[in-house]
Amino acid sequence: MSSTVQSPKLKVDRQWRSYINGRFQDGKLTRTLLNPASGKALCQVSEASSQQVTEAIKAARAAFDHGPWPRLTALERSQFLHRFANKIEQRAEELATVETLNAGKPLRESRFDVSDAATCLRYYAGLITKPTGQTVDVPAPSITRIVKEPIGVCGQIIPWNYPIQMAAWKLAPALAAGNTCVLKPSEYTPLTALLLAEILDELELPPGTVNIVLGDGPQAGLPLAESGLVDKIAFTGSGRTGRLVAQSALGNLKKVTLELGGKSPMIVFDDFDLETAVDYALYAIFCHAGQVCSAGSRFIVHSRIYDQFVSRFIERSKKIKVGPGLDSETEMGPLVSNEHRNRVLEYIAIGKREGATLASGGETLQGGKYQNGFYLSPTIFTDVHPKMRIVQEEIFGPVAVVEQFTTEQEALELANGTRYGLAGAVFTNDITRAYRAVKALRAGVTWINGFHSCYNECPFGGYKESGWGRECGTYGLDAYTEVKQINVNLDPSPINWFSR
Ligand code: NAD
Repeated sequence: MSSTVQSPKLKVDRQWRSYINGRFQDGKLTRTLLNPASGKALCQVSEASSQQVTEAIKAARAAFDHGPWPRLTALERSQFLHRFANKIEQRAEELATVETLNAGKPLRESRFDVSDAATCLRYYAGLITKPTGQTVDVPAPSITRIVKEPIGVCGQIIPWNYPIQMAAWKLAPALAAGNTCVLKPSEYTPLTALLLAEILDELELPPGTVNIVLGDGPQAGLPLAESGLVDKIAFTGSGRTGRLVAQSALGNLKKVTLELGGKSPMIVFDDFDLETAVDYALYAIFCHAGQVCSAGSRFIVHSRIYDQFVSRFIERSKKIKVGPGLDSETEMGPLVSNEHRNRVLEYIAIGKREGATLASGGETLQGGKYQNGFYLSPTIFTDVHPKMRIVQEEIFGPVAVVEQFTTEQEALELANGTRYGLAGAVFTNDITRAYRAVKALRAGVTWINGFHSCYNECPFGGYKESGWGRECGTYGLDAYTEVKQINVNLDPSPINWFSR
């Protein structure tokens, strides 16, 4: 089956199908992907049967147990990852355009994600060649070395909001450490992962080392989580699915890491420049239309500046240029799908029913440049109560709630008052207060006077129900390694523990 992704800026005529054991393979099911910007068909993809998912797992198993990849030196794996990054950079504009057509995000965001994917590969290509492990001074006559080894076959399940970046965050550390992989992209946004498979194929990665299986969660994700041939499952997505994945992984007690959702707070004290705070607030929630796990979705603002903040926040949110991601004017794109927009609209209805004030937005946009795309205007709720569902639950769309506080303690209680703990920010000019407050945030990624900046060198992940473990940085590599102690007896003479 051949299917064309075509836009005024790009034509990719290829077959979109799973990559298993070094071959692109047609599956049994066909799915039509829609362009979120227009609501029109984008292309067709062929999804893997459960038999093909099993084939991919077996291929990864054989590649780990007998193939060359885990047996290469760290330097050889590093060199391969650099070549992978080079190819991504050479094809950056094509990859970014496909990402925008598939996921809906503005081109400037897709370009950033593609560049970040290459940087992530280079980071792990560098890290894997650096000294690792420990030597330990144990009682004579032994010496001990502690070494890190690959875990084995890694199942990797990723969401639709950052398709290429999430694929790189999963593949780069796993491959650097010498694992083999079966990656399942989201059924909504599999295209850039397949272009990565095309690059890996061109680079002649040994068959079975990376397999990309297409399909929905129950069809292609669950078998990865359940399989006794898989040693580790790395999942990024919602808490609901994360729980299912963790339970399914219990069969062979495989290693599990979970990167889940958030409801991240941004606290604004009254000594901070209001215009700058509003600027960051817009970025925190409306970047990628709020479909960011670490989006700032709760604004906790000092009561002395609350009214001014709200009025400026609303005023500027109305000026955000919503439109198709390929349009160079566009600042915020559509949501990924109509179903997802309906979920977000349901939360807007819940907020109104709960008694919050819909201060701005909440409208679907259609016709003209919006065609039948899945657009939703930037939305702001005020007069909210901490117990409301729109304050407690992840909406994963362009919906902000603004709360107010008078004391620092109250601000922190509000900030920490959800079951999530992915990210959070504090805005103030008082360095002592900033540090005190940020230390009190129960979250894994925090900022003082900033939002969203995120580095391949630094651990990403959450406290509480935002997940298990960390990606990126040295922590991300550790999550793909086992630790082994090697004890060497320098005096192997009889110990006579038992009488002769
Ligand atoms: P989702 O949980 O619906 O799906 C994620 C992936 O899991 C998809 O590939 C899906 O096909 C698969 N899946 C679904 N059911 C499955 C099952 N039963 N077994 C195995 N796999 C299954 O999430 P989504 O809607 O794609 O993404 C949005 C969520 O992802 C949000 O909650 C967001 O916060 C979270 N997210 C977290 C991070 C992070 O790093 N913490 C990053 C991006 C997104």
